Formats: sequence, structure tokens, C-alpha cells
Amino acid sequence: MSTFQAPKGTYDLLPPDSATYLAVREAIAAPLRGAGYGYIETPGFENVELFARGVGESTDIVTKEMYAFETKGGDRLALRPEGTASVLRAALEANLHKAGNLPVKLWYSGSYYRYERPQKGRYRHFSQVGAEAIGAEDPALDAELIILADQAYRSLGLRNFRILLNSLGDRECRPVYRAALQDFLRGLDLDEETLRRAEINPLRVLDDKREAVQKQLTGAPLLRDYLCDACKAYHEEVRELIGAAGVAFEDDTKLVRGLDYYTRTTFEFVHDGLGAQSAVGGGGRYDGLSEMIGGPELPSVGWALGVDRTVLALEAEGVELALPATTSVYAVPLGEEARRVLFAKVTELRKVGVSTDFCFGSKGMKAAMKSANRSGARYALLLGERDLAENVVQLKDMESGEQTALGLDEVVAELESRLG
Ligand code: ATP
Ligand code: MG
Repeated sequence: MSTFQAPKGTYDLLPPDSATYLAVREAIAAPLRGAGYGYIETPGFENVELFARGVGESTDIVTKEMYAFETKGGDRLALRPEGTASVLRAALEANLHKAGNLPVKLWYSGSYYRYERPQKGRYRHFSQVGAEAIGAEDPALDAELIILADQAYRSLGLRNFRILLNSLGDRECRPVYRAALQDFLRGLDLDEETLRRAEINPLRVLDDKREAVQKQLTGAPLLRDYLCDACKAYHEEVRELIGAAGVAFEDDTKLVRGLDYYTRTTFEFVHDGLGAQSAVGGGGRYDGLSEMIGGPELPSVGWALGVDRTVLALEAEGVELALPATTSVYAVPLGEEARRVLFAKVTELRKVGVSTDFCFGSKGMKAAMKSANRSGARYALLLGERDLAENVVQLKDMESGEQTALGLDEVVAELESRLG
């Protein structure tokens, strides 16, 4: 029988590369934690209807990419394709918005699933860190989120990313634009599916990546020219605040993003070293979403950054994260009694916070030292029968090769003070 392989469009995270993924998640989360966002975790699946309503019936995510299934109990569920609908559902269910402390600021990190055509940077299982600020309409909140994402990317050492910014208007001005765009699209030479899309959600036609479509869109009416005064002022304020924070951005009047629920501010982070899958993250304001899933009016804003593509962006820029070696001390016993004594020391070292590994199995000295080297440990701790008789242990500096004998009773305190 042949062995199993990871399902198509998925891959496993293995050491040492997996450490980079953890560090990326941590780097994205750190600025959020520091800005008052609380951690939220929701189930990996939800009622399919939540996504149908919350992401949009006409989106690719819902029509083509969702893993939907019926359970033995007859429930219609779907693996979550994105985080926002679930987070808002959870916040509404727990009445977080009624605690009198708006906005409710939440961050999350997890796995998402989309049935897509797998290629570099596009997988069927991928990982996002996201943030949502629920229940406040304030341009400073939109600006905060964009600034925090920028800070996260910069803290990772990324430089070649750009922020694209647009406003999609609100329920007052968007319908007027929508009608004008529809008129324009009806006059173009488009395939049937695109024409149907133009009737359901014409803005998303602007997002069409095909060149033949893009060419025809050159003269399309621009949302910018249709924004109402309130939307214009709001957008101006967001731009002002981001600019004042020293965060560079580009106005992109055609940026609409794939989800139906966005209003006003939308933005995308793109990286120029990633080829076709250039978006590393995106988000925007979704003032109507709460009502779409049965909640009260709760203007909100959020983003999600893709961990997989962020790691690819690091690779594209040649950025190596400075990840400290996970093991500081590697303990090598020689002989049965030494083994027992040294194993106890390992436990003591771990208790005082010194990360320590032990030479398991019955390795010879040469193989044991090879493992010590590979562990990246700063020190090796060697205990032989003679050492045991003299109540000492050999501390070997793995960089200089220098070896010194320490009392067995002192070694934990000594290593704690050197490494703690
Ligand atoms: P794209 O236009 O590339 O399909 P999207 O608009 O569908 O992206 P979002 O729904 O905004 O993406 O998700 C936010 C981020 O999550 C993306 O910018 C990307 O980094 C990541 N992402 C989305 N889909 C995938 C996927 N299939 N594989 C890997 N990462 C993904
Ligand atoms: Mg997509």
C-alpha cells in the first residue's frame, strides 16, 4: 500500500520552517494586542447560511469556493472560508455589543478553507490573522487598523508592500453609482456569466482580473465621482490620519475586493514579489453586515492578513527572521546512573526557565555531540561515571569548545544566571 499524502492544495508546516509561521502570526498579533484588541476563537465550521448571507450569495467564495456539507443530523454546515462573518456572529450571540463599550475590538488567528485552483500562494487550506472593530463609525478606527497592519509588516522587516485604498460609498451614494456602472457594463462585450454578475453585483466586475475585461473598463464611471459628501469627508479624514502617521498609501479607485459586505473604506496590502497572488491582506468597513446576519445596526471595520503569503513575501525579499535557537542546553549522559541524575537536572533546568533538551536513546558520544550541535544549544552538559564519582558535571561551551567542570549542585543556578 502506498503512503498517504496531504490533500491537494494543502501542505504541512514542519520544523524548522514552521517556526517562521509562528513568528509571523505573533508579529501580526503583537500590535493588535498592544492596541486593545482581545483574542477570539470561533469554530472551524458554521451554518452555511451565515456565509451565504454574510459573505454574499454572488461572491466566488460562496458560489465556488466553499466546502459545504450536510451532517448526519441534517445540519447544513460549511468550513469557514473567512473570519469576519463568524466573529460578528459570535459577538452578537454573546451580546458583546451591549456591554456599553463600543467598539468591541477583537483579533483572531486560524485556518480557513476555500476550494480553489491550487497554485503558489493559493491553497485550499490557509492561515489568516485578522482583526475586527465592531460597533463604531469613526475614521480613526479605520486608520488605526491600517496603521497596525503596516506596523506588523514593518516589524517583520518587509519593505516592498503597498497599501491600496478606496472608498465604496454607503447606502446613500452607492446605489446611484451602481446604476451608472450597470448602464455602462450593459453596453460592453462581456460573456454571459459576467453580464449576470453585472446585474447582481456590478462593482465586482471591476475586480475582474482578465485583460480582455479590464481593457473595456477603461472608461467606466468611477465611484470617486459619485461619493456623497458624508462619504467624501469620512474618506478624506481616513487618508489624513494614515498620512499623518507616516504610512504611505495609494488611492486605487477600482479597488472593490471580493466580498459583498464592504462599505466606505476598503484597502488591500499587496506585495510586488509574489506574482499573480499579490494580495497579502485586505479589509475594510462593513457597516451593513450585522443587519445582513440578523443583528442590529453595528458599523464595523476589519482586516485579515494571510500568513502563507506573508511568509512567501518574506522569502521574496530575502528577509530571514532572527529566530532564537529553541534549545539553550543539551544534556548528554554516559552510563545508566549518570542518565538518571542528568535527567533530573534537565527537569530542574526547565523549571527555572532554561530551555533544555536531553540525549534520548542509546547514542554513542560522537552521535550525541552531533545532536547537541544540531539543536543549536549554547551549552552541552556532559555527565560521565568519573564526573559522577567527583560530584561534578562538564559544561561545554558549544561556540568556543571550552569545557569546565561545575559542581552538580551548582550547575542549575549557574546556567540560570548565564541564560535566564
Ligand atoms: P485573492 O484575490 O488573492 O483571491 P481574496 O480577496 O480572496 O484574495 P481575502 O478574502 O481578502 O482574499 O483574504 C485575505 C487574505 O487571505 C489574502 O490577502 C491572502 O493573503 C489570504 N488568502 C485568501 N485566500 C487564500 C488562499 N486560497 N490561499 C492562501 N492565502 C489566501
Ligand atoms: Mg480569493
